[in-house]
Amino acid sequence: MNQNKNDTENNGNNEKSDLLDVYFFRNLVKNRFFKPAVNLIFFIVLLIILYFGLSSEPDLRFHGGIPFATTMIWDIWHPLLAFTLILLGRLWCFACPIGAVGDWTQSVFSLKKKYPEKYRNLWIAVILFLFIFAAERHLFMFTRNPPNTALLLLFFTGLAVVMGAVYEKRSFCRYICPIGLVLGVFSMLSAIELRCKSKKTCQEHNIKECVIGSEAGKACPVGEFPQTMERNNYCIMCMECVKSCSKNNIRLSPRLPGADLVNSRKAHLDEAYLVHGIIVIFLFVMGMERLQFRNVVINFVKSIAPFDTVVFRDFFVNYWRNMWAILIFAALTLGAAGLMYLSARASIPGKSTRQKFIELSYAFIPLSLSVYLAENTFRLLKGLFFITETIGKFFGRVWEFAINFDTINHLQLILLFAGFLFTLWAGYLISKKLPDSKNEIQHSMIAVGITAVVYLFIGVKILTLPII
Ligand code: SF4
Ligand code: SF4
Repeated sequence: MNQNKNDTENNGNNEKSDLLDVYFFRNLVKNRFFKPAVNLIFFIVLLIILYFGLSSEPDLRFHGGIPFATTMIWDIWHPLLAFTLILLGRLWCFACPIGAVGDWTQSVFSLKKKYPEKYRNLWIAVILFLFIFAAERHLFMFTRNPPNTALLLLFFTGLAVVMGAVYEKRSFCRYICPIGLVLGVFSMLSAIELRCKSKKTCQEHNIKECVIGSEAGKACPVGEFPQTMERNNYCIMCMECVKSCSKNNIRLSPRLPGADLVNSRKAHLDEAYLVHGIIVIFLFVMGMERLQFRNVVINFVKSIAPFDTVVFRDFFVNYWRNMWAILIFAALTLGAAGLMYLSARASIPGKSTRQKFIELSYAFIPLSLSVYLAENTFRLLKGLFFITETIGKFFGRVWEFAINFDTINHLQLILLFAGFLFTLWAGYLISKKLPDSKNEIQHSMIAVGITAVVYLFIGVKILTLPII
């Protein structure tokens, strides 16, 4: 009784319900064949996608080709990942075949070097993510180019192998994987968390198997320590600590979405920049799906593109627009982040503007997620309709649905407004927990409010244009 009381005071969370206690779930997770089996299934799916992707003609619009790889990745996997984030957080990482390939490499050979200290941040992943989506439309065309989609997957699989062979633990998942990065930041909003049940039990446990590993399970592959975990970002849900902890002290609990925004004291510039970057890039991408917006951008680019230079004609025709698109994205992102920075500086005298900017940027995670979801709405519907049609065909039925662009426009606007409201709410909660909050809360809310209204205004302008 006293033990429980002390734990609750010390921990405040050991009364939480534990999904691992549901039926045989803990035993399943602890079974040493379960995770490899899941990884193997997804690895086989990955191989099939690679095979069909590399066998296809390059551009589905002009050459026909096999759309299997692009449909599986961009219409099913990526939108499903985005839309299940709130419920499942980073649970995908448990199943991910690319991370598993890195693991398998390590079990055969690894130099086990420590990942360099100066690169222990998320900047490489941030740049990779923003570059892939900024350059998608005119340079890589992943969504309509199956071989390029397959090459992208091969690139990251190769990187996971190389990093597994050189570095210890899951350095690829922790520092490089752009999907892991985005899942990590958005999983701060998710409705589940993996934590220790009792911090007191951890404190009193001399042999910390979650850190050093044991025969039952590995040491945490991303360097997390359950006793001090206060946010979801880096935990890849591998469940090794569930296996290794001899005290049975790990729980997987449902919670209020967004709890990490309030509970976490950690804030980093790379994540703050990503949050703004996602808003700007995906608003821009949605703009490029609308003729009026696209014409403005294309006319601007044409007016400054030296297409009459004969020697470099192909280069300019193919890549000039994209180079400009990337530059415009970068400028807009920096501009948006700069706006936030300036309003934070103007409003909060005597505080570190940089730190304030970073902390308040986390309030924009809901808006960032809503824009990310809005961009994936069309693809999610396309993917779900594809699955329904395929199931229909299997049963000899015709289950066909047409995508209504007006409906998509409305859904995107609803998402945008929901993200805006949650961002204001998150801004209020974050401001409240800052030191000296009474004086600062008003100033912080002005900084968050101004930037959120600018994003909302640009978003509404773009999303009220008809989709072509
Ligand atoms: S092994 Fe379990 S009890 Fe020990 S420190 Fe890790 S999570 Fe806590
Ligand atoms: S060992 Fe535990 S804390 Fe570490 S990544 Fe895996 S599930 Fe998360």
